[in-house]
Amino acid sequence: MSKVRIYSLAKDLGVDNAKMLEILDGLGVSYKSVSSTIEEDTVELIKQILEEEARDGAPAAAAEAQPQTTPPAQAQAAQPQVNQGQAQGAQPQVAAASSPTATAEREPQVAAAAPAEAEVPHRAPVVTIMGHVDHGKTSLLDYIRKTKVAAKEAGGITQHVGAFEAQTSKGRIVFIDTPGHEAFTTIRARGANVADIAIIVIAADDSLMPQTREAIAHAQAAKVPMIVAINKVDLPQADAERVKTDLTQLNLVPEEYGGDLVVVPVSAKTGEGVEDLLEYISLTAELEDLRADPKAPFSGVIIESRVDRQAGVLATVMVQQGTLHVGDFLVVGEGYGKIKAMTDSAGGRIKEAGPSTPVQVLGFSEAPASGETVLSAKNEHAAREVIGARASDRRDSENARERRKLTLEEMMGE
Ligand code: GDP
Ligand code: MG
Repeated sequence: MSKVRIYSLAKDLGVDNAKMLEILDGLGVSYKSVSSTIEEDTVELIKQILEEEARDGAPAAAAEAQPQTTPPAQAQAAQPQVNQGQAQGAQPQVAAASSPTATAEREPQVAAAAPAEAEVPHRAPVVTIMGHVDHGKTSLLDYIRKTKVAAKEAGGITQHVGAFEAQTSKGRIVFIDTPGHEAFTTIRARGANVADIAIIVIAADDSLMPQTREAIAHAQAAKVPMIVAINKVDLPQADAERVKTDLTQLNLVPEEYGGDLVVVPVSAKTGEGVEDLLEYISLTAELEDLRADPKAPFSGVIIESRVDRQAGVLATVMVQQGTLHVGDFLVVGEGYGKIKAMTDSAGGRIKEAGPSTPVQVLGFSEAPASGETVLSAKNEHAAREVIGARASDRRDSENARERRKLTLEEMMGE
């Protein structure tokens, strides 16, 4: 029998991916993602562990009915062994995993299931789509939007807000829908990382092009996990194998060639493979263990903004932590605003928005730039204080720069 992928084994055995990874950690088996393959021996071990757990669980459940017959020693003995295995065997391997975010997030859980950590709920993944011009980024987003977003009719106009939320069988996925590198790079240039996962779209009839390489480099620099969508597989001249070979030359080895790069053939025209792509996004997100506390202080990032002649400034904010409410005071750079109204990405009016939700906010007096960080203030007074302090910091550093320039000019003049 050949090797088996972690997620498909999880599916077959009826456990979730997190549980499967926990068992693998306990066994000291290394893996890079839920789509990594594991050996047949390991599969057998996992089955045994699950069977043992099921057996241990059964008498425990029956214990209430017949307390005397339950051997609690067995359950107790098994537990510490698993923990030790995790602590000693798994730690170094987890640390060696390719994604640092995954490592940082997973470690506390593996170590001791810290209760505070566990209470922070999961959040939906934020996905960005990048790739060469004409490879089908817009078409792919359109297809996902058409099939996965139940658009609310807000006066019949679908407004462009720079992001949308898709409902899939695996949960919510948020797409940044300003395709191309600009959104990603301007946002990143300001130090914010909005995307959790990057989809690199490569046309099957064109393979790797300059902007494809650029997109890959951006995702790598941002340490964002990548999924490659080989698009246009409906075309007769499509050559997905060539794309995979070309990727290998960049040291990105597709899974079926023994590497860990997830590659999904899709067609934005026929929809073929799109469901698989969404599933892979969810699997990747699960592995990243993305969490955010809706009760924490609010912080977010400006995705885009524009000035509407009638409504005024409309800014799309991605909530990263905490919850936004209508009436909140927001501070961006040296400006602030009070939220007069919020709409979700489908155009519906909303009163509050939690983590990983893109919302269009009405209430800024000036259009904030993409990538700016947004924080909330208790009230108008607090908001003014924050921007006052920021303005004086800026003036200080400008003055310092001016002084340095003068000194330099004096030196040159002499
Ligand atoms: P972008 O520049 O990456 O956003 O690419 P577009 O989405 O604008 O697509 C470029 C062209 O490729 C358009 O003419 C699309 O209709 C076409 N296209 C996109 N996806 C597919 C696909 O899956 N199959 C086929 N046959 N054509 C596609
Ligand atoms: Mg486009």
